[in-house]
Amino acid sequence: MPLRFPLTATDTPSTPEKIAGIHADPGFGVYFTDHMAVATWRKDGGWSDDAVVPYGPFQLDPSTAVLHYAQEVFEGLKAYRHADGSIWLFRPERNAERLNASARRLMLPELPVDDFLTSIEELVTVDAAWVPDAHGGEASLYLRPFMFANESFLGVRAAHQVTYSVIASPVGPYFAGGVKPVNIWVTDAYSRAGKGGTGAAKCGGNYASSLIAQYEGAEHGCSQVLFADAGTGVNTEELGGMNIMVVTAGGELITPALTGTILEGVTRDSILTMAGELGLTPVARPVTLAEIFERIDSGDIVEAFACGTAAVLTPVAEFRSHQGNHVIGDEPGPRTMQIRSAILDVQYGRADDVHGWLRRV
Ligand code: PMP
Repeated sequence: MPLRFPLTATDTPSTPEKIAGIHADPGFGVYFTDHMAVATWRKDGGWSDDAVVPYGPFQLDPSTAVLHYAQEVFEGLKAYRHADGSIWLFRPERNAERLNASARRLMLPELPVDDFLTSIEELVTVDAAWVPDAHGGEASLYLRPFMFANESFLGVRAAHQVTYSVIASPVGPYFAGGVKPVNIWVTDAYSRAGKGGTGAAKCGGNYASSLIAQYEGAEHGCSQVLFADAGTGVNTEELGGMNIMVVTAGGELITPALTGTILEGVTRDSILTMAGELGLTPVARPVTLAEIFERIDSGDIVEAFACGTAAVLTPVAEFRSHQGNHVIGDEPGPRTMQIRSAILDVQYGRADDVHGWLRRV
């Protein structure tokens, strides 16, 4: 039976004035809408108890498995309001499939793709007033589906009861003052994921273990961290929460190939797909850190950027490491900005959706 996520027990919705006030200065992931979607999985009965309910805390027993063994996965996508007021999702099926891939790795139950889509569409419909206008910029409603072991039991095994939920947060442009290139710290002290580990899954533990590198980077004036592979430290992998791409003088758009230790970003895939239309040659292959740094220093790599749902494309000003710095420049490059606009134009309905990536709520 497909899940329906019916609206149950509404409370008093937020006033238009309150929502307008939050839309004026939403930050990122600070405010949440009036409702959330929930469903429960039980080993002996599958998924049930699907509903959209007023946003509020979960009651968790202190022995709840996720609090001890981190059996948890999540997703991140956005709802975009077009100029005519309609609301759209961007490739949400990819997030549904990736949630299930993550769930398999963490021994959590899969949620049928249609149920994932229903949960999001029902929540966004109920809380439609919370989806901001684009405001000529990049305001949207960030959606956070997640699933966790919700069984009160201190045994190390896959939980017999699991909670799935979706919460939503209005977000403004990631770069409030215009797109600004950031410095990236290349850590040699920490790795994000090893062969056979959970790097390709979107699970909370990956982010917990990357925090220390993030702080190391901040001490060196960097706002993001680039990780190399855990085995040799030679190959470029990804940032703590974004994929990495570089542009060569010859028009190649190069990004590390998926190795099983990198998260398969929806933005990454969309950019690789669009590259040809923008006059770039997409290349996904193993890329060493040494190659990137040598080609930046020789002027052959002319732009670099990080990509992900939250910030879309973030230009890189400089890679910094204990071995030295490799400078690209303080101004966002033309290719980076061209790709950035191209993907935003599709998401906000300003360009033809030639790949069929948009899904109307
Ligand atoms: N890598 C990591 C580790 C991430 O957390 C994210 C954000 N989900 C990405 C890459 C980019 O993925 P997407 O483009 O699907 O947001």
